Order: sequence, then C-alpha cells, then structure tokens
Amino acid sequence: MIDGHTRTCGLMGNPVEHTMSPLIHNTLAQKLSHNLVYVPFKVEEGKILSAVKGAAALNLLGLNVTVPYKSQVMEGLVQVDGLAEKIGAVNTLVRTEGGFKGYNTDMPGLYRAMSSEGIRLEGENVILLGAGGAARAVAFLCADKGAAGVYMLNRSMEKARAVASEVNHKTGRECIYPMTLSDYWKLPEGKHLAIQATSVGLYPDVDRAVIEDGDFYRRIHTGYDLIYRPSTTRFMELVRKAGGQAYHGLKMLLYQGIIAYELWNGVSVSGELALEVYEVLKEKMNIKE
Ligand code: NAP
Repeated sequence: MIDGHTRTCGLMGNPVEHTMSPLIHNTLAQKLSHNLVYVPFKVEEGKILSAVKGAAALNLLGLNVTVPYKSQVMEGLVQVDGLAEKIGAVNTLVRTEGGFKGYNTDMPGLYRAMSSEGIRLEGENVILLGAGGAARAVAFLCADKGAAGVYMLNRSMEKARAVASEVNHKTGRECIYPMTLSDYWKLPEGKHLAIQATSVGLYPDVDRAVIEDGDFYRRIHTGYDLIYRPSTTRFMELVRKAGGQAYHGLKMLLYQGIIAYELWNGVSVSGELALEVYEVLKEKMNIKE
C-alpha cells in the first residue's frame, strides 16, 4: 500500500518501456515487506544531469541507469565507486549526503549469476565475443577475477585492440588478447568458457549468431550469452549442438538488480529469495529453462 512513508526507486534510460527491473524490485519489496516502489523514468536526450538533480531533490532512495546514459550520468554524481570508475559505466545510483554515489552492479551481477551456475573465471581461458560496452566490462571482470587469458574476438579489430589495451593497462595484467572474429582457429587448444557479449542474436534478430562455423563451437565447454531475449539464442543452440552447456543472461539481469536493491536498502538477499524472484521473472517472460 503506497502511503506517506513509501520510498521511491526507479530506472532512468531511453527507452524504458520493455524493462524487467520494476518486476525485480517490486517483487523484492513485497517479499521483504519493504514500503518501496520502483518505477521507470524515460529521460529525453540531454536531460540526464537535470534528471539526477531532480531525483536528489525529490529524495528518491536510489536509481538504476540504463542505455544510453551509463557513462554520461557520471558527471552528475558526488562520488563514483572504484569498480564503476575503472569500467567507466554506472548503472546504480545510491543516495549519500549531498547527492548520489554511482556503482556498477552489472559486473558483480554477472559474476554472481555465473557463480550460481558453478562457472569459474579464476585460472580459465575465456573466449569473449564483442568489444562494446558490455564486453569491455566483462573483460575487466575476467582480468580482476584472475582469468588466465581473455581472447576478445570482435568484428572491428581496432575496437578490440583499444579495449584490450585499456583493460590491460588499468588492471596491470597483460591478459586480454584482441582478435578478429575469423581468427578463432588461433585460439589455444582445448575447450573453454565463451561469453557472448555482442548484440547479434538479440530479439528480433533471433536467427543469427556472431560466428556460425561449427568448428568454433567445438572449442567451447560452456557458453554464456548475455542476451536473454530470446531465452534460447542461436549462439546457445550452436554451443549445445557441439556438446557444450549454454546459459542465457536473465540471471545476470536478476543479480544486477538484487545487488542494487541491497545497496539501497542495506540488506542481504538470500539465494532462496533470489531464486523466488527469478521464477517470477521467468514466468513473466514465459521462459521454461
Ligand atoms: P554495444 O556497446 O552496442 O556493442 C555491440 C557489440 O556487438 C560490438 O562488439 C559490435 O561489434 C558487435 N556487433 C554488433 N553488430 C554486429 C554484427 N552484425 N556482426 C558482428 N558483430 C556485431 O552493446 P552492449 O551494450 O555491449 O551490449 C551487448 C549485448 O549484451 C546486448 O545484446 C545486450 O542486450 C546484452 N546485455 C545484457 C545484459 C544483462 O543484464 N543480461 C546487460 C548488458 C548488456 P563492433 O565493435 O565491430 O561494432
């Protein structure tokens, strides 16, 4: 019941109409009996900094930030957490005295999602597809968690080179190796974890994978696609066809939300509650696996 004590959180981005975040946060609030409501805020181009000021003036408890504002928003914050600063992207704003502090919960979210499936990064060779915003953050995560090597395959070699050199420099490890997509035959022998962080295969472009060749997929023991719409991507199908395990990105979305909720409310969400919220998400999206 919304009353005079209700705290407000929300998502700033554009577009925001298809977001699943309200379902995550409002379910958590309901299950934890918190008097909190989470709503989407569509922010027009050029207005993100005034939106942050307005949110502080309105005493909002916390905000998520999505495309296209994850970098732009940093300018309007009083403080930025070390990991978010390094990644160069903020997706969560937490109230502090005088304004908002920015965090990145996408990467810890991906880590928690992968750990919950028993997937490890420590000491692994990781094949990373893509060099965009998401791939860049995954590269930081892999370097940070002690991956042995990260083979960053991207359509634009120039972009992969730039991202690899930045991550290597900022983490003090020479572990990210840029490559073009067609160079996958140069990957180290054996089977590896592959993280799919391109936008190829995202709804409505569901019939495509960034690499189609079956020879690539026999090098993968586990394929993790950051995409969750559709819940079975072409990449996942190709991984499974070659005998590997495949996962979609819905748990990453779930855990980035859970970590934001924990930051706003000073609580810790149990694994059981996380799975309850996951079931609600899956039901809403009509996902069976
Ligand atoms: P982005 O910055 O736009 O990067 C897009 C990437 O896809 C680039 O590496 C780009 O290669 C590649 N790409 C695009 N079209 C291509 C094509 N036709 N052929 C080959 N490569 C192509 O996007 P992003 O923000 O990193 O997001 C990437 C994906 O991650 C999206 O599908 C998004 O939905 C997903 N994601 C999921 C979550 C989650 O919570 N599960 C969170 C964040 C992102 P070039 O560099 O050569 O252009």
